[in-house]
Amino acid sequence: MLAEEDIPRRWYNIQADMPNKPMPPLNPATREVLRAEDLFPIFAEELCRQEMNQTDAWIDMPEEVREMYKYYRSTPLVRAYGLEKALGTPAHIYFKNESVSPMGSHKLNSAIPQAYYCRREGVTNVTTETGAGQWGASLAYAAKLFGLEAAVYQVKLSYEQKPYRRSMMQTFGAQVTPSPSMSTRAGKDILTANPNHQGSLGTAISEAVELARTTPNCKYTLGSVLSHVTLHQTVIGLEAEKQMEMAGEYPDIVVACFGGGSNFGGIAFPFMRHNILEGKTTRFIAAEPASCPKLTRGEFRYDFGDEAGYTPLLPMFTLGHNFMPPNVHAGGLRYHGAGVIVSQLLKDGLMEAVDVEQIESFDAGVLFARSEGIIPAPESCHAIAATIREALKCKESGEEKVILFNLSGHGLIDMASYDKYLAGDLINYSLSDEQIQRNISALDKTMH
Ligand SMILES: *Cc1c(COP(=O)(O)O)cnc(C)c1O
Repeated sequence: MLAEEDIPRRWYNIQADMPNKPMPPLNPATREVLRAEDLFPIFAEELCRQEMNQTDAWIDMPEEVREMYKYYRSTPLVRAYGLEKALGTPAHIYFKNESVSPMGSHKLNSAIPQAYYCRREGVTNVTTETGAGQWGASLAYAAKLFGLEAAVYQVKLSYEQKPYRRSMMQTFGAQVTPSPSMSTRAGKDILTANPNHQGSLGTAISEAVELARTTPNCKYTLGSVLSHVTLHQTVIGLEAEKQMEMAGEYPDIVVACFGGGSNFGGIAFPFMRHNILEGKTTRFIAAEPASCPKLTRGEFRYDFGDEAGYTPLLPMFTLGHNFMPPNVHAGGLRYHGAGVIVSQLLKDGLMEAVDVEQIESFDAGVLFARSEGIIPAPESCHAIAATIREALKCKESGEEKVILFNLSGHGLIDMASYDKYLAGDLINYSLSDEQIQRNISALDKTMH
């Protein structure tokens, strides 16, 4: 643990140090380069500036935000002796435990500053989408902290599969609507075309963005993918950097699961900075589900962030914005694209990606639970699986590598998923190349 005065006072903006900056977002109608002002109608202005900031490596945390962080930060850095022993590996495995946040995941790290900046700019209502409900719960709570009303569109499948996250959001006073819904134009269009649509993050984003656009004093917020979200999450890696120093070690490998990239960037970027600026050789591994493999099997190109095509065009690794991920239990990883920073870093070879099948992820999660006493979120199980693969390579080679992974959340509200696993009812979803190509090749060729 860190002392309170050692909680970071600034976030790290890797955009300033990247050898190749991300390509700019484009206005979908005109194909012109988007400016920060173009995003003002949708997001709080300060968040738009952070999004587009490619020059300042350090961004000050407002004191009000840091005060709220102190409620649950720093989070512990833990040496996973139990897991090391269970694997019989000479590797030193550490994890950063973001599951201790009152919402049970890292999402609150960005919900707090997003709600704060909205409040500071006179906004009264915030809206968003949520998959598994981790982001929705965090935003609902952060909105309450700063006196805002929150309206959350929850992916219908998760709304039904994860009823307790919906209850959490409602407990914090948010209004929750299953998506697609008939309350928006985007939702109506999708339901008319396919009445049995189970929802996806892309669809829910369309609905929330539409609500923000059509409601006065209402802003949209996002829990992943965008660069300002990852910026806020660097509090994880900045703390971990100091904590690893206290442990007298430096990671050879940093691992995190990957949905849109915020917890990955959050733990990785402060260490990647030393690779870029000082020639360190740490490896960074993003672990995504085999059922939604945008980093390992997607294409780098301009695409929309949402299903209806409301968002700017973003340069990213994508499976196509119409891609419908199979119903895996790691709801937070079911998104078709990757954030623009991570996409550029992957393209430039500064990081790696691996995919993990659903059953391997739960095998890893259960082994972790039995050796460390923490039941990980189905999303986090992917990071644990990738960590175990590396630790077993060390067992083979006899190397004492230092592996650091991010435990992005706990799985105590995902026990229905564990029930299915324990009953042997989970399946893997291997996508054929044809399935993957179908969506990508349907995209407008001029968007390349
Ligand atoms: C949302 C979520 C993720 C995936 O989102 P990223 O932006 O890729 O970090 C991973 N783990 C948990 C617990 C989540 O709630």
